Amino acid sequence: MFGFGSKNIGIDLGTANTIVYVDGKGIVLREPSVVAKSTKTGEIVSVGTEAQSMIGRTPGSIEAIRPMKDGVIADYDTTVSMIKHYIEKALGNRGTKPYVMVCVPSGITAVEKRAVIDATKVAGAKDAYVIEEPFAAAIGAGLPVMDPTGSMVVDIGGGTTDVATISLGGIVSSKSVRIAGDKFNEDIVTYIRQNYNLLIGEPTAEKLKKNIGSASEVKASETETEMVRGRDLLTGLPKSIEISSLDIARAIHEDVYEIIKTVKETLEETSPEISADVIDYGIVLTGGGALLRNLSSIISEETKVPVTIANEPLDCVAIGTGESLKSINVLKIDK
Ligand code: ADP
Ligand code: MG
Repeated sequence: MFGFGSKNIGIDLGTANTIVYVDGKGIVLREPSVVAKSTKTGEIVSVGTEAQSMIGRTPGSIEAIRPMKDGVIADYDTTVSMIKHYIEKALGNRGTKPYVMVCVPSGITAVEKRAVIDATKVAGAKDAYVIEEPFAAAIGAGLPVMDPTGSMVVDIGGGTTDVATISLGGIVSSKSVRIAGDKFNEDIVTYIRQNYNLLIGEPTAEKLKKNIGSASEVKASETETEMVRGRDLLTGLPKSIEISSLDIARAIHEDVYEIIKTVKETLEETSPEISADVIDYGIVLTGGGALLRNLSSIISEETKVPVTIANEPLDCVAIGTGESLKSINVLKIDK
C-alpha cells in the first residue's frame, strides 16, 4: 500500500516550524509555521519565511498568524492553507496525491487528532495518519524504539516541552509542559523591560536567546554581550543597550527549572527497569530548544543522568515521522 516512493511524506507540524520529509529524498523544506493574511479579504499573502519576516511589522491590512498553538491546531482554515502550500512546495504541484504522516503531541484528544487528519486530507493528502511526536523524535534521534530497552526523549519545541519514555514500539509514559522556546522569548522581553526599561520585540528576544542565551546562570558570562535595540519606556524613543549572557540566563531561569522538574517527575514515575536503562543510555534532547547552551549539562547535573543532544535536533521529529511511514504496519499509528 505504501510503495509509492517519493509520494510518501512526513510533516512535522510544529508550533514554531514546519518541516517536511519526502521519502527517498529526506528533508526538503523547513519553514516557520506562520501565515500572513489580508485582514480585509482573508486571502493568504504569504506562508513561511516570508510571512515570518512580517511579524511585528505588518501594516493594518495584513496579519501574521501562527495557526498552531501548543502543538495543536488553533486556526483550522489557516492550517489547511499552510499544509497545502507546503505539500505543493515539497512535491511540485503535479500528479498523484501523497500519503502523509503528521506528528501530533502525545496526549492530545481524539478530536484534536481528527482535526489534524482532516486538515491534511483537505490540504491534498490521499490519506493521512498521525504519529505521536516523542515517538517520532526518538526514531529520528536513532533510539532503539522497537527494542525492550527504555529510552527517554525530551523534546523542547516552540510551545511545549515533551518528556517521554519509550520501549517496545510504544510510549510508556509522557509529560508535557507549556514551557519551551516561546516562553523563553516572552520572559526575555519581560526581563529587559523590567530591568532596563526597554521594550524589545519577540524576534529580538529570539535572536538574543540563540546568540548569547544560557540555561545556566553559573556558566553564563557577564562579559559575553550583544547590543539590542528597542523603545525606551521612559522617553518613548529608540535606544540601544548591551545585554549579557547572564541577563538571558536570569530571564529564563524559572522556565529552565520547570523543564528540569518535569524531567525529574517523569523519571520518578518510571518503572525501575526503564529507569535503569535511562541511566545507562542517557536522556536524549531533541527540538530547537535542545540547542540552548548549557541546557544538556544542567539537566544532567540536576538528574544525575547523562544527557546528549540528538544530531540535527530541529529535524529529528520530521525524520522520524517520515521514516515511520515505512513501518506503518508494525507501529501503532492512528488513522
Ligand atoms: P516546534 O516543534 O514547536 O515547531 P522546534 O523544535 O522547531 O519547535 O524548535 C523551535 C524553538 O527552538 C524556537 O523557540 C527557537 O527559538 C528554538 N531554538 C532554535 N535554535 C535555538 C538555539 N540555537 N538556541 C536556543 N533555542 C533555539
Ligand atoms: Mg516539534
